[in-house]
Amino acid sequence: MPCPICGHTAHIRTSRPMSDVSREQYYHCTNGRCSHIFVAMISIVRTVGDSLLPKEKQSGWPFNYAITRSKKLQNAPCDELQLSLIETGPPSG
Ligand SMILES: [Zn+2]
Repeated sequence: MPCPICGHTAHIRTSRPMSDVSREQYYHCTNGRCSHIFVAMISIVRTVGDSLLPKEKQSGWPFNYAITRSKKLQNAPCDELQLSLIETGPPSG
């Protein structure tokens, strides 16, 4: 992650869980003249591919199935001003 102050790469020094699906990450800027230390949050927001574990082994995970492309399209909010990431697919290269 880039440092929000100087733009140099910042590395994670430590992290701690905030919930089952989120963590706080403590970053340290690698620019010796900056050395900014900051905290970011990372959260799991959805499943992209189903787990191979049996369903009875998948306790406590609220997003335990992948949403198929057709379901995404059916449930997608209608906003004519917004580009669809579903239509374009994942980034290439
Ligand atoms: Zn910096």
